[in-house]
Amino acid sequence: MSKVPLYINKSKALANGQGACVLSGAVIVKNEQEIYATAATTLKDDDPTAHAAVIGIRKTRLKQRTFQLIDYEIYLSEKPCPMCLLAIFQAGIKKVYYQGKEKIEEINLTNDYLKKAYTVIKP
Ligand SMILES: [Zn+2]
Repeated sequence: MSKVPLYINKSKALANGQGACVLSGAVIVKNEQEIYATAATTLKDDDPTAHAAVIGIRKTRLKQRTFQLIDYEIYLSEKPCPMCLLAIFQAGIKKVYYQGKEKIEEINLTNDYLKKAYTVIKP
């Protein structure tokens, strides 16, 4: 059985609410094993970059002593904001799952996906 709902539920349990990633939760997984799970600390730390995905990437890289997280997946309590999406891409994570409005959504994070995601924010 897929562990996707399990990790999505954990990310939602960690989250402190929904809205623009500020209250998000994240679980980072490798080979179906949880490596790191966290909540955003944006408000607590007064840090606009402390979204759960960004914290998770930083901590996982330190914990695993690796620069790239190529074989990892990330599970998020809500759709990642542009900052988190780019951080996930920069970390080398290719598979993103998040809780959508009605169901769990999946992103295959390729160059093409990013190009399409950012066409809406071109100047
Ligand atoms: Zn974010």
